[in-house]
Amino acid sequence: MADIFYDIETKELLDTNAPDQDAAIRALHLSVGATWCECHAAQFFRSAAALAEHLLAHDRIIGFNIIHFDNAVLAWSPAKPVHDSFDPVTGKHIVHKRLPDAPAELKKLLDDKSFDLLADLETRLGHRVGLGALAEGTLGKQKMATGPQAVVWNHIAVTLRDRLPFALADVGDQEGAARVNELGAWFQERLEQYCLQDALLVKKLFEYGVANKRVAFFDFESERRVVKVQWR
Ligand SMILES: [Zn+2]
Repeated sequence: MADIFYDIETKELLDTNAPDQDAAIRALHLSVGATWCECHAAQFFRSAAALAEHLLAHDRIIGFNIIHFDNAVLAWSPAKPVHDSFDPVTGKHIVHKRLPDAPAELKKLLDDKSFDLLADLETRLGHRVGLGALAEGTLGKQKMATGPQAVVWNHIAVTLRDRLPFALADVGDQEGAARVNELGAWFQERLEQYCLQDALLVKKLFEYGVANKRVAFFDFESERRVVKVQWR
């Protein structure tokens, strides 16, 4: 299957002052992932294993900062990829493992199929550049939210969905439980839409770069700068 675009959000916020950034990234864990491909359109994932399997079913994984960030978060998220089935002939339980147990092996599988727009731009520019700066400079579009907002939305969605409804139902407040559930679903939807919007920004940026052989971004002095690319 063809190209797939993806982005994830995390449960925790990255501590950029942590001495070991790779270890800090591995500790963040997936909250939600969004993908877009021509064959499956938009898909959302809360399970890291299901997301990794879906990505690996495609020929090329395209994202922004995925080698350094998303692939690492995904590979080190705790969900274990196990598929159970029951063989009616032997009466035995069969466990299919489609993904490797070792996070480093899973990351390598993902990396090998990845085309990371940031890694490519960093090689050309000699420095990193933000997705927001590229989206504005190239497409005239702004990001819908920020990483810290996504972390807070996820905390609220999880609390409202997994904890408060039970507490309210326990004390006989069914209506309260239902309302809290609805609000949790609203935050979850907002989180997923933000995640998808970033995956689609990457798609538009990539397609622009392929068609025009260049992309642009606003630098720290708010100057618009053009960078030539050879994407295809
Ligand atoms: Zn697909």
